[in-house]
Amino acid sequence: MTLAIYPGSFDPITNGHIDVLKRASKLFDKVIIAVLINQSKTPFLPIETRIDLIIDAIKDIKNVEVDSFNGLTVKYAQSKNANALIRGLRAVSDFEHEMQMAQMNKNLCKDLETIFLVPKVKYNFLSSSVVREIALLGGDISNLVPQSVNDYFESMKK
Ligand code: ADP
Repeated sequence: MTLAIYPGSFDPITNGHIDVLKRASKLFDKVIIAVLINQSKTPFLPIETRIDLIIDAIKDIKNVEVDSFNGLTVKYAQSKNANALIRGLRAVSDFEHEMQMAQMNKNLCKDLETIFLVPKVKYNFLSSSVVREIALLGGDISNLVPQSVNDYFESMKK
């Protein structure tokens, strides 16, 4: 069985993440979205909320699960016997940071491959931080995020 881990903050999950996830789910028998708990910067949404929003957003994708983890991504991936890490590549601006992480992870675990997937062009400039900013300023994010995330931010307005 081939297993890929898609690690990230998902603060919150966006349609860009979902696009990458759907592509990964066609390439692997199983994909685990792994939400990082211990970040140096304080996340906007608590871990439980991020996970709940993801569970709802992925309910129609059969071979995808969600989990959370602490510490090194490669250690988590090894504990699951994963074959690959999935990362999304948007604009060129992602490239240097993503390449650095992929090389470091390769250094830590030589058998774990990093696979970069490219989303639809319309998601190239979509990020969790842009979504948060628009939502907090009262803008419409309904075409940028799954229903669960839109509903969550709508309920915050009340
Ligand atoms: P991190 O804090 O690890 O970058 P994110 O949740 O921001 O976590 O992103 C997780 C992964 O998804 C990263 O590889 C990121 O480049 C990718 N990603 C984020 N937004 C998009 C998008 N709109 N299209 C494609 N990939 C994306």
